[in-house]
Amino acid sequence: MRFTDLMRVDDYLRLLPKTELHCHFVSTMSAGRLIQLADRYGVALPTTDPETLFDYDDLADFLVAFRAATDVLRTSEDLAQVAYDGVRADAAAGSLRYREYYVNPQYFAPKGLGYRDLLDPIIDGLRAAEADLGVGFRIVVAINRQDSPAAAVELVEQVLADPIPEVVGIGMDDLTPELTEDPGRFSDAYALARRHGLKTTAHVGERPVDAPENVRVALEDLAVDRIDHGYRIVDDPALTARARDAGMHFATTPWSTTICSGWTIDPEHRIRRMIDAGLSVSFSSDDAVFFRTSVAREFREALPLMGLGVEDAKRIALAGIDGAFCDDDTKAAMRARFAAEMLALDTALADS
Ligand SMILES: [Zn+2]
Repeated sequence: MRFTDLMRVDDYLRLLPKTELHCHFVSTMSAGRLIQLADRYGVALPTTDPETLFDYDDLADFLVAFRAATDVLRTSEDLAQVAYDGVRADAAAGSLRYREYYVNPQYFAPKGLGYRDLLDPIIDGLRAAEADLGVGFRIVVAINRQDSPAAAVELVEQVLADPIPEVVGIGMDDLTPELTEDPGRFSDAYALARRHGLKTTAHVGERPVDAPENVRVALEDLAVDRIDHGYRIVDDPALTARARDAGMHFATTPWSTTICSGWTIDPEHRIRRMIDAGLSVSFSSDDAVFFRTSVAREFREALPLMGLGVEDAKRIALAGIDGAFCDDDTKAAMRARFAAEMLALDTALADS
């Protein structure tokens, strides 16, 4: 392939319309804003050198940095500004059209920010960005596994008692105090959410130490609507077949697996094997600022390293609509918009 062909494919992948389903709100903050706010509020960072600020040994090491970063978001103005700026950056750099955010009220409550104190300014910022930039969004309230199963039930009760139109689901992330996923520990919270019509997702099967059984528990015991990560599923072919037949969606995050799972991105990567097995897979950045990535980088760099091309990229972009938690009318409008944009891009690629 000639250099100019590579450039064309790179432009195609940049301009391809994208969703992002697996995006932790705190991580949409830019590195510059994180350092600025840490200085303003006297929050200690491991270093203020942007070159080494985001170096970690593993998932647990990263989570320490992530929890510290929640410390710098203190006021409504900070939250709304980070929300708006994050959309603007990704819409410009990678043709982002729709995003779902994981927001963890349990990180913020001990610092005096209640549920509405946290959610209202974030939603204000995202609504302003949607009006200005045309990027739709929904919110998934995430259970923090550091906390107890009883606290998880209380969190779901709070979401149900104080409905917000854009808050459509429940997820879970972080690790238990024993550094495990243990999804079954939170089954009461998931049952409550499901009974009241909330969508559900869960981080499971992410690292080499996280057994495929964790994915099975999320799929079959918690009965989630989608899975975050889920890479270990390919080590259980029967479970993979059941997930494929059920149309289960996996919100994967290629770049973060190089840090949290220690994997190389190549054609043998588990995400590539999930796609080859016929699973519905989308690409997201997970924790963009911490992993020095973006949804654009996942498509432009990780996708070609897995040996995938533009046809795969289109399928992955459209699968992100299938896996989204928004209503059917919103999905239909997105599918029509994506189809038109993809047709224009295909024509440009063929003509150039
Ligand atoms: Zn995540």
